[in-house]
Amino acid sequence: MTKSQTAARLGIANQPSSRDLQALRHLCTTILEPVRVQFRVPILPSSGYRCLPLNAAIGGAPSSQHCQGAAVDFEIAGVSHLDLAHWIEANLVFDQLILEYPQPEDVNAGWLHVSCLECGNRRQSLTKTQNGIFSGFPAF
Ligand SMILES: [Zn+2]
Repeated sequence: MTKSQTAARLGIANQPSSRDLQALRHLCTTILEPVRVQFRVPILPSSGYRCLPLNAAIGGAPSSQHCQGAAVDFEIAGVSHLDLAHWIEANLVFDQLILEYPQPEDVNAGWLHVSCLECGNRRQSLTKTQNGIFSGFPAF
């Protein structure tokens, strides 16, 4: 959840605080572990925690929940991002569930961004494309 190729390349430590670690643990136990159990696959997050210098280096939004250890980007083998998004939406408690850059002709395009807070989760299902952020998921 803290490993980053960009951080390694740029010499950024990407070390979470104890508060960030608590948020990361919550994210793992409430989102990633239930997904792992349901789909019986290992999960390799493409982006979890980002310290501020790392977030800036990759062009993340300054208010990104990745910087608090509350968000993860991931995909799993053998399940389309859209199917996974629908399963999470129906079964788990989350703050924002974002289907990022899906393509109708390629079920492997893009990735899922999921954030989860210890309280006050908004349960927002969103799709992000080159044209903006939209409520809900596409029909394809
Ligand atoms: Zn993300």
